[in-house]
Amino acid sequence: MKSYDHIVVGAGISGLTLSLLLAMNGKKVLLLEKGARIGGSLNRFYKESVPFDTGFHFTGGFARGGILTDMLHVLGIGEQIKPVFLNAPGSGLFIFEKDNLTYDMPSGTDRFRLKLHEYFPKETQGIDEYFSRVKKVYASTVSLDLRKIGLSAETLEEDYQSLQSVLDSLTADRHLQGLLSVFCVCYGVKPKEVSFASHARVSGGLFESVARIENGGEAFIRAFSGSFKQTGIEIICNASIVECANIKNDTVGEFVLNNGEVIKADHCTFTIHPQEIIKILPREHLRKAFLERVASFETSNGFFAVSAIAEGADPQQFGPSIASLLPDTDINALLDPDLKGDGALAVIRSVETGKDGKKYCVVNAFEPEFYHNLEQWSDSSVGRRPRDYYEYKTKKVKRIGERFRQIYPQYRDNFKVLDAASVLTFRDYLFSPEGNAYGIKQKMGQFNLFGKLPLVNIYVAGQSAVLPGIVGAMLSSFIVARNLVGKENFNRFIEGELAN
Ligand SMILES: Cc1cc2nc3c(=O)[nH]c(=O)nc-3n(C[C@H](O)[C@H](O)[C@H](O)COP(=O)(O)OP(=O)(O)OC[C@H]3O[C@@H](n4cnc5c(N)ncnc54)[C@H](O)[C@@H]3O)c2cc1C
Repeated sequence: MKSYDHIVVGAGISGLTLSLLLAMNGKKVLLLEKGARIGGSLNRFYKESVPFDTGFHFTGGFARGGILTDMLHVLGIGEQIKPVFLNAPGSGLFIFEKDNLTYDMPSGTDRFRLKLHEYFPKETQGIDEYFSRVKKVYASTVSLDLRKIGLSAETLEEDYQSLQSVLDSLTADRHLQGLLSVFCVCYGVKPKEVSFASHARVSGGLFESVARIENGGEAFIRAFSGSFKQTGIEIICNASIVECANIKNDTVGEFVLNNGEVIKADHCTFTIHPQEIIKILPREHLRKAFLERVASFETSNGFFAVSAIAEGADPQQFGPSIASLLPDTDINALLDPDLKGDGALAVIRSVETGKDGKKYCVVNAFEPEFYHNLEQWSDSSVGRRPRDYYEYKTKKVKRIGERFRQIYPQYRDNFKVLDAASVLTFRDYLFSPEGNAYGIKQKMGQFNLFGKLPLVNIYVAGQSAVLPGIVGAMLSSFIVARNLVGKENFNRFIEGELAN
């Protein structure tokens, strides 16, 4: 029987990060991935030789001394991940469509704040108060400093205040409220459901800098793959755990894989959707209250995605940029599953190199979409969906094309859609139960699974644990690694790598 120090389940950014951290600390690691290849939401796909991103498109955390820069440095792959900052004028547009109002917002927290002063001269006090609170939360969140990360982050007053309540106390201007809560769409929780602290932990990095990565998520996959070879991490794809066996004193001794193989490991960490984890764990070792808690978790939205190109557009003039189209100033309404009409739409432009070596002007557009609205087609699988599902998709693609042409009339005649995906597509490709973009919502009053589970050698990390997005997913793995490797050893390791 093969034997390991650690099994890591799921090879998205969380599983990749955790596996490498453990191996760098001398552990023997097996990484299991249900899909045919590693990478999860980092993977790209190609249509007519043009590369498109599946999940990950842009991130914060790359500013000087930023958390993402630090994490990549510790992992020894910083040199291979090249950020492309979105800081040219016009690269961060927020458009309230009904009111025909466009805000061109710069990168950098202070520049963003001062630009808001120009747009809302009567609201400067509320604006300053908002940013000083964002900065306070960001600075006092221990997990955002790799030297101090711990499983139990310090709780702040702002962990118990909703973003909406803070906004209401600062301004009554609905456009300003919309702009100060727009990043909720980047993690899928309504302003009235999310704590100000969670909002600040994600948005703090996005205000500071927004960047795409050269070659998208594939750059991460290549970098990790290289380091895996050097550190001897073993990977099995098309693999998952179907049973936990030989359990003594609430400790799992053996793990049975879908191919029948039985593996011994001292620890196993799941980086997959919590509701999928529960299906694998032995029920008789879990309390009813625990199972009920997991069953009640509210999942985040997914996205309807359109992958397109602007044919014949000049790559020199094309992005990178993100335009956020907002049909309403109330972000709560835009994240409501029962919303009628258009949703918020993120239009991401970038220039990508195709498989044929040519430069393409690429457009990725995303609109929040909710699984329960597509439930009538949930029994179907990729390539085998009923006709009315395709009619639904065609209608959505047409409407998103109209909205794109409205803001970019110069590409009116050369906007060419190459593919489209719904939450059902994401569900089937990423093995996430409802095609959610961010797993379980990080909302007030919901205590997500993180760290050690009731079984003593089973842990949880991943995007549903502490914060969504790739930064949150990686952070959760750093925190769990610290627990698994031991605080002292891990701190020494972090200090050593950061000093390199
Ligand atoms: C459309 C979309 C757009 C997004 N845009 C951004 C963005 O621009 N910026 C950003 O930061 N974040 C974005 N996100 C979110 C981001 O992609 C995720 O937060 C992050 O990649 C999650 O990483 P993860 O490792 O936790 O999960 P995943 O990437 O989902 O990886 C989980 C892995 O586990 C595997 N798996 C599942 N079940 C099992 C099992 N039983 N056994 C073994 N393996 C299993 C899956 O196949 C997958 O490879 C987006 C997500 C989506 C869907």
